[in-house]
Amino acid sequence: MPELPEVEALAAFLRERASGHVVARAEAASFAVLKTFDPPLTALSGLTVRDAGRRGKFLDLLCGDLHLVMHLARAGWLRWRDDIPDKPVKPGKSPLAFRFVLEDGAGFDLTEAGTQKRLAVYLVRDPLDVPGLATLGPEPMSEDFTVDVLAGILAGRRTQIKGVLRDQHIIAGIGNAYSDEVLHAAKMSPYKLAASFTQEEVVTLHKAIVETLADATARSAGLAAADLKGEKKTGLRVHGKAGQLCPVCGDTIREVSFADSALQYCPACQTGGKPLADRRLSRLLK
Ligand SMILES: [Zn+2]
Repeated sequence: MPELPEVEALAAFLRERASGHVVARAEAASFAVLKTFDPPLTALSGLTVRDAGRRGKFLDLLCGDLHLVMHLARAGWLRWRDDIPDKPVKPGKSPLAFRFVLEDGAGFDLTEAGTQKRLAVYLVRDPLDVPGLATLGPEPMSEDFTVDVLAGILAGRRTQIKGVLRDQHIIAGIGNAYSDEVLHAAKMSPYKLAASFTQEEVVTLHKAIVETLADATARSAGLAAADLKGEKKTGLRVHGKAGQLCPVCGDTIREVSFADSALQYCPACQTGGKPLADRRLSRLLK
């Protein structure tokens, strides 16, 4: 899933490539993809793309006075094409979920594998009309996200830090991948309780959040949409790397599986060398 660094790069790419161009048409493959009905997608035709931006993991393309807000969900992606085919977009098994075409024939497809599309597109006059966007937590790359702000977020919260970092209502833009990376950089257990952080640990975590995201954003900057996915994968140190060696200490990276996701971590760097309990696994073994 694209997270803050990749969505930031996608926004920069669209700003560069689409700004100043006139929209020819936009089409959704199904009603499930387009979450709004007023204004209709046909209202985009003839408008000029003015800007592109990011809030959390949402991509916002400003066309005239309308915001085309896109959320790529877990498996969605944006594919830029210099020459978009004329064929109409059809629902069904195709990964194509949404198509946006400029008058010069270029544009982008939003794709997602599988028949059930979870990516979401909204056409709104005000981005705050998008559910989930209005309730986002602070942007971790903004100057307002200080150590004190993070301390306030963690204080009194009896939940594991991994879940806190991923919660978009608490901090915007960090998902499953970068929360693993941040905790590895901070040398902290994903199970550590938010309320247990000392001031010194808050400083360490804050630094890890800002540096991890800044590094990934710098690596992604200037890349074409097509190259972002590969860059994200190669830049990660622990996420998705179970069984491989930790690039910091050489221990074997381990994994804990949940019903719909998994986390990866380095025992030597993060949990004092002890593997974390995998509740699902231990239940199976009983
Ligand atoms: Zn390690």
